[in-house]
Amino acid sequence: MAARTHLARIERAIPSCTRCPELRAYCAEVARAKRKAFESWEYWGRPVPGIGDAAASIWIVGLAPAAHGANRTGRVFTGDRSGDFLYAALHRAGLANQPTSVSRDDGLALSGVYVSAALRCAPPANKPKPHELGNCSTYLDEEEHALRGWRVILALGSIAWGSALAMLERRGVAGFRPKPKFGHGARVALDEGRSLIGCYHVSQQNTFTGVLTPAMIDEVLAQAKRFARG
Ligand code: SF4
Repeated sequence: MAARTHLARIERAIPSCTRCPELRAYCAEVARAKRKAFESWEYWGRPVPGIGDAAASIWIVGLAPAAHGANRTGRVFTGDRSGDFLYAALHRAGLANQPTSVSRDDGLALSGVYVSAALRCAPPANKPKPHELGNCSTYLDEEEHALRGWRVILALGSIAWGSALAMLERRGVAGFRPKPKFGHGARVALDEGRSLIGCYHVSQQNTFTGVLTPAMIDEVLAQAKRFARG
């Protein structure tokens, strides 16, 4: 099956997933109640699939949709400050056609990069439970299978890092004893010249406090592009 067809099948399946009833109920309730600033919106309120280039060499794995961000817009990292920061960086890196990401029909196109997350439903307080990450891990596995040309996985934050390590082990790409520690700019060399690279998460807690600056993510993206070229 062609990579685009395979990914499209995964992207179509994810919004109907019901493996975590508590999370589905939480997302639906957020969508019903809404935030005042978005009361004119028809919230998505369901699991959020990944987006991007089926021929991507760089695969960015985030944490989870935000309650009033991707859970509202239905597109990963779209409609919140995290997405503003991430897509502006992808645009500077030449991986996105525009620096903003506000809705599913805003014309955003990614080139050479795919973006998804460890968890596809917005969790309360942005804190996924281990069994929820376990339930959702099959989608990372399926994406790994579909994204045949990936060279670099860029994990945003320690939870995405842990999920990526576990996925790589399940997929037989690598084994880790002991598990490599997450760090900003940390790199794990995988077989066939591939890499797992860490980056602080693009959440407001990091970007509003200077823990993660535009220059820092630009540097990590440049590192990812270098290793993706081989
Ligand atoms: S978190 Fe993942 S596994 Fe759980 S319901 Fe949402 S999409 Fe399904």
